[in-house]
Amino acid sequence: MEQQQKPYRVLLYYKYVPIEDHEQFAQEHLTFCKELGLKGRILVAPEGINGTVSGTVEQTQIYMDTMHQDSRFADMVFKIDEADGHAFKKMFVRPRNELVTFRLPEDINPNELSGKRLSPKEFYEMLQREDVVVLDGRNTYEYDIGHFRGAIRPDVESFREFPEWIKENFQQFKDKKVLTYCTGGIRCEKLTGLLLKEGFQDVYQLHGGIVTYGKDPEVKGHLFDGKCYVFDERISVPINQVEDVVVGKCYHCGKPEDRYVNCANPECNLQHICCEECEKTYKRSCSQECREHKRNRYVLEQEANQATAKEERQVSKVGS
Ligand SMILES: [Zn+2]
Ligand SMILES: [Zn+2]
Repeated sequence: MEQQQKPYRVLLYYKYVPIEDHEQFAQEHLTFCKELGLKGRILVAPEGINGTVSGTVEQTQIYMDTMHQDSRFADMVFKIDEADGHAFKKMFVRPRNELVTFRLPEDINPNELSGKRLSPKEFYEMLQREDVVVLDGRNTYEYDIGHFRGAIRPDVESFREFPEWIKENFQQFKDKKVLTYCTGGIRCEKLTGLLLKEGFQDVYQLHGGIVTYGKDPEVKGHLFDGKCYVFDERISVPINQVEDVVVGKCYHCGKPEDRYVNCANPECNLQHICCEECEKTYKRSCSQECREHKRNRYVLEQEANQATAKEERQVSKVGS
């Protein structure tokens, strides 16, 4: 049976290419995106563009076509996910000095120094060799709900902590083949450059990232365990179509779970892994204090649901 296409799409893309007067570009680009009806988050820097946006099939198609008409972005690859609705609440286009940054005295230009790019199939084959070490190029909270089997979990909370972490924790792998991966590929462009600069010889990156790997018709996401963390309202997306392995653990009870929720205390919002049972028990909160907060969103939602149910019962009584 043919699957019906969903009405919305989420795009993920980047391109390292010089953008002159990036602040003005960002301003005009925001106007363009808003007029089109897109929502999402785009960063614009003198070194390029990095974005993720959602919109209807038509809106996202116009966006991609328009971008491809610009010679700077003519070969930009869009990763496309189908969706039931928007994945963002607002539209932001922010000018930045860099797209992803290590805060090094001298930044790395991926167009000059970067690891060898591997297709999903090549990456899948390399993963199974004995002489490779796999390094996750993301943060701990991303690793914790899903990662490639056997990958090293760098103890970093943000990308700029990588240079120090590599200096202190990764030097022993200098004579190995190093494979890196991240969500869509943009971070690895610089991470592999950093590794080469540090004296690593044989460095590879998963081209197009985990998201592309999960869509490859041959590898089907195989050897990726858990879910892939994404920076929009979906929080995570499935990757492995062959087997379903859960790697995360519930923050409260420790049971296997890969669902992140935001703490229901609107002043806390802490993202934590939480099973459905504990969501009820702990009112989707990370602490007792948050549970008892007077504007706890979980409590308010429950009250609203009960009120609606009551109304519906009354309406049906009148109708009968
Ligand atoms: Zn639990
Ligand atoms: Zn909390």
